[in-house]
Amino acid sequence: MIEIKNIKKSYGDFHALKDISLTFRTGETTVIVGPSGSGKSTLLRTLNLLEVPESGILKNGNLEVDFSSKISKETMMAIRKETAMVFQSFNLFPHLSVLENVIEGPLTVLKLSKTEATARAKNLLTKVGLADKLDHYPDQLSGGQQQRVAIARALAMEPDFVLFDEPTSALDPELEAEVLRVLKELASEKLSMIIVTHNLDFAREAADRMLFLEDGKVGFDGPTKDFFESTTDPRIARFINSIT
Ligand code: ATP
Ligand code: MG
Repeated sequence: MIEIKNIKKSYGDFHALKDISLTFRTGETTVIVGPSGSGKSTLLRTLNLLEVPESGILKNGNLEVDFSSKISKETMMAIRKETAMVFQSFNLFPHLSVLENVIEGPLTVLKLSKTEATARAKNLLTKVGLADKLDHYPDQLSGGQQQRVAIARALAMEPDFVLFDEPTSALDPELEAEVLRVLKELASEKLSMIIVTHNLDFAREAADRMLFLEDGKVGFDGPTKDFFESTTDPRIARFINSIT
């Protein structure tokens, strides 16, 4: 479980996150939506300490960070290990093959043997439909294939939570569909995921829970069904209409 309490994050005098408290439960897929600039990426990046708020508390399992004091390097590393991030722009290592990209973290961070890391990687690459691309390099793959490698790479670390920041927004619709298929499968297996996306059809199908951010605050936090049916809330209705 990840819990945040009273998180405040500013850029200069702009308040990107305004006193946010939330809990993310293990085994759930949460989709975060909201207008551009509402703080979605900042929130997600806070969960693995790519952003450091001015104040508030982050708990991840039995790890705890109080942002009003200095974070120890050990705690930071431990939290990053439990929260793998998948970015919009894939961020694969260009000079490593598909297989090498996936075994890199397990070898260097988790200290698995090469045999173990390779077995784990092959298993995951099969799962994302890339068993026949192990020796390819990122620039020999489509964007959708690269993103599926990035997903396998994140899963290979066996983190408690996988965080996705607009994982399909750089992809054409048919490539987006193959990535979303993988994400839906992972959601049905009860992986713990937090996904920022503008794809509401995907959210409706895959999310257990929806978070709607607006202006650095939580405008909705609840079951997916309630989100799509709570059209009595004019701000949510307006948002849903704006992108469908
Ligand atoms: P989008 O849908 O466009 O990705 P978002 O909801 O992810 O938006 P964030 O990236 O979290 O929004 O940004 C929230 C606000 O904080 C925005 O107004 C943005 O301009 C501002 N912001 C984000 N990062 C920085 C930064 N490094 N320096 C200054 N302002 C920033
Ligand atoms: Mg963003």
